[in-house]
Amino acid sequence: MSERIVFSNGIVVTMNDANEVHFGGSVVIDGDRITEVTPDPVDTTGARVIDATDKIVMPGLVDFHYHTALGKGYSDHLPLWEYLQTCWYPMIRALDPESAYWAALASYSESIKCGVTAVNDMYRQLEALADAAEKIGIRAVLSNDVATDEHDLDTLADNERAFRAKNGAANGRVKVFVGIEWLPLASKDLLRETRALADELGTGIHIHLNESLSEVEISKEMFGRRPTEVAYDCGILGPDCIAAHCVWLSDVEIALLRETHTQVSHNPSSNAKLGNGVARLPEILAAGINVGLGHDAAEVNNSRDMFEVMKFASLMHRAVHVDASLQQAPDVLRMATRNGAAGLGFEAGELSPGKKADVVVVDTQNQMFTPLLENNADHVFSHLVFAANGSCVETVVIDGEIVYEDREFTRIDEEEVLRQANRAFREVIERMNVPDLESVRRS
Ligand SMILES: [Zn+2]
Repeated sequence: MSERIVFSNGIVVTMNDANEVHFGGSVVIDGDRITEVTPDPVDTTGARVIDATDKIVMPGLVDFHYHTALGKGYSDHLPLWEYLQTCWYPMIRALDPESAYWAALASYSESIKCGVTAVNDMYRQLEALADAAEKIGIRAVLSNDVATDEHDLDTLADNERAFRAKNGAANGRVKVFVGIEWLPLASKDLLRETRALADELGTGIHIHLNESLSEVEISKEMFGRRPTEVAYDCGILGPDCIAAHCVWLSDVEIALLRETHTQVSHNPSSNAKLGNGVARLPEILAAGINVGLGHDAAEVNNSRDMFEVMKFASLMHRAVHVDASLQQAPDVLRMATRNGAAGLGFEAGELSPGKKADVVVVDTQNQMFTPLLENNADHVFSHLVFAANGSCVETVVIDGEIVYEDREFTRIDEEEVLRQANRAFREVIERMNVPDLESVRRS
């Protein structure tokens, strides 16, 4: 049950409009909302008090492009196209609701341990995923892997059914968007029908867009246009659309994303692992496009640690542009909190009165946060983005409920989840129908 919770005497990183950091501050939660954020002590009568002395109290991280995953570290030596055809698609075709449920709990539990309070999860068997999100307490936007029929993945009808069954579940913690796998597995008709369905349901769209050079070439072959141009032509883009990756954008494609107020998920560590390149993040940001951060999937990352993603989101661009002024720590943390929450339509991502109570407590009594100057916000931001990893996260509150306290889950049996996820993976592998690698290579 939600209750009144007071975080007292913490280093409160608000991520509010003024980027305020309060030292020795308090955050008050009543039910599912934050009611007070102050640099001062507050009355704690009748409240559950979490002593945040020597700890950072910050908004939960938002993983803006996410797939529940089952097969981390398996067959992951291949380039994207070959990997998808011989591993990812065969694996998710073999997925049943039970294996999806345990895969989701294993995925969400790693994310929560690393301070993530909301995920934008494109996968299959959404009803099972919604049950897992409800169980563990995470905030989740779910969407299907919709493709044209010959690919034997999901259909718009699957996605609509999941929307009608689960959208708004768990006090609004679970939402359902319409998901399109990517252009090489789509048609113009399917893209137009996707937009029509999203508008009819009043929900958003989640799509992989311009992830790899191979996708750009396939898009030009299939449609005669670059990926973002095709998405624009078919009405996919818009403020309710989250376009994941956006790596090889032309100037025209950046202009189309800006014109349509499309949301972009930047996934630098996935792009690096798959050899897909480095997105034009400075130019995308300069165009005023809202950018959040995502880990993508454990198969292509292989970690769900968003602290690691934040570090990549800064360092890759500094390396490519030979410019250490790029992607400063507070801006990177903003992408991983506020920008993602805004893109998903959640009233979260900052610690301000009235916002949803998604709050993370980070321990600073460790080497990652040593040395730490007193009352120095820059030092706090730097450590969070450049020094920390997810192991610094001690307690996580989502929608006003403590779901992870002193590094223990409150709503799941973690050992059971790991055991069941291992069993599910081994069973799915047995059921997979894997095509010959040579047969899927594009000439
Ligand atoms: Zn993805």
